[in-house]
Amino acid sequence: MKDCTKEMGGYLKRLFPINRSITGDGNRKTLKILQEIIPLKVVEYPSGQQVYDWTIPKEWNIKDAWIKNSKGEKVIDFQVSNLHVVSYSTPIHKKISFEELKGNLHYLENIPEAIPYRTSYYNESWGFCVSYKQYQELFQEGEEYEIRIDSKLSNGGLSIGEILIKGKSKKEYLISCYICHPSMANDSLSGVITTAFIAKELLKIQDTLEHSYRVVFVPETIGAIAYSSKNEKEMKSIDNGLVVTTCGGLGDFGYKQSWEEGNFINRMIEDVFNENNVMFLTYPFDIHGSDERQYSSQGFRINCTTISKDRYYEYDYYHTSLDNLDFVKEESLNKALNLYLQLINKMDKNIVYKNLYPNCEVMLSKHDLYPKTGGAILPNSDISALDIILWVLYYCDGRIDLYEISKKLNVNMCLIYKETKRLENKKILERV
Ligand code: ZN
Repeated sequence: MKDCTKEMGGYLKRLFPINRSITGDGNRKTLKILQEIIPLKVVEYPSGQQVYDWTIPKEWNIKDAWIKNSKGEKVIDFQVSNLHVVSYSTPIHKKISFEELKGNLHYLENIPEAIPYRTSYYNESWGFCVSYKQYQELFQEGEEYEIRIDSKLSNGGLSIGEILIKGKSKKEYLISCYICHPSMANDSLSGVITTAFIAKELLKIQDTLEHSYRVVFVPETIGAIAYSSKNEKEMKSIDNGLVVTTCGGLGDFGYKQSWEEGNFINRMIEDVFNENNVMFLTYPFDIHGSDERQYSSQGFRINCTTISKDRYYEYDYYHTSLDNLDFVKEESLNKALNLYLQLINKMDKNIVYKNLYPNCEVMLSKHDLYPKTGGAILPNSDISALDIILWVLYYCDGRIDLYEISKKLNVNMCLIYKETKRLENKKILERV
C-alpha cells in the first residue's frame, strides 16, 4: 500500500478554496499547483473556437460578489463561499426589490444548512445561491437590497492540463478528471488529486510500464469535448480509460461500468475490490454521468469506468457546500488511489500476444524453457510454470488477452504475465 495520505491531505486543503469553473484563472491556478506533483503541460483553447457541435465559451472571471440589506449590511458574501454565486453569472450592480431578487435566489429546502451549487454556462444570466436558513433569516418581503456581482465574461481561453506517460507500447490508456468545480471536495476535487497522484506513481515506474497513459485534467463536458476534438486521432485509438471522480466520500465504494458490460475493465475492478475485501456497489452504464459520456460516444467508444466512494448524484451533499473537507478525508483519497493503482497494474499487464510458432508444439528444451526437474508448482497457485507456458502457447492467437487467459486458467494474471515475458524475450510470443 502506498501511503500518500498526508501529501494528498495537504493538496486537498490548498485546492479546496479556489474558485474554479469551466474557464478562468481559478483553473490555471489549480493546474499550476498540480504541476508541483507532476510535470503537466497546460494548453489553452481560445474562446470562440468550434469543437464538434460546441463552441469554446467566453472566459469567466469573478473578483467579488455580495448582497447588502437596506441597512447596508452584507448578508451574502462571495468571499465566505464561492458557491454563493451562480457560476458564469454576468456582472450586475443595482438596487433591487426582494420580489425581483427572489427569482434569482437558489436554495434547497430539504438541506437547510447547505448552499447549492448552480451554473449557467450557456445562458447569460446571474444568480445567487444561499442556504435555506439564510433565505429565511436574512431576506424579507418588501425590503430593498443592493446586489453586486463583479464578474467579467471576455474572450480568453479554456485551460486544460495533460501529460503523456510513455510505456513500452504506444497503446494508450486514458485517465481523465475534471477541474471545473469550485469549493466542493468529493465532486470533483477528490478525482483531481487522486488523478495527479496516480500519474505521479506511474512516472516513478515508467520504465516498467507496458502501456502508455494519457492523463488529462479538463473542465467537464466542454473540456472533454474540446480535448477529444483536438486530439481526435490519438483518442480514437484508445480502447479503455478511467474517469476519476467522487472517490473520497464517507459512504460506500462502487464503480460505474463501462459501456460494454463484458469488457475486461469491469471485471478487473471487481477483482480488485474482492482482493481487498472491499464491499462495493455496481452502477450499470448509463448515458448520464461524467466525461465517459463523451468518451463513450459513437466516434470514440472508449470503455471507461469510475471507482467511486459516494458517487455523484447519490449522496445528500452532492452539489452543495456540505461536500466539504468534513465529508472528504485524505485517508479515503489514499484508499481510492491504491485501488486505482492496483487496477492499473492489472490493466498494464493485460497484453494480447501472438504465438509465432502456431504449427504444433514448441520444443521447449531447445529454448531453455523446459524445467530440468519436473513438477514444481508455483507459489500461491496449483499450477506449474511449465503448464502456464503450455497453456499460453495454446491460447495466444493474437486475439485473446492475458486477463482472459488468467480467467480460463483461474490463475493470477501476474503469474501469467511473468511467463509470457520469458516467451516474449525468446521471440516465441509477439505483442499484437
Ligand atoms: Zn458535479
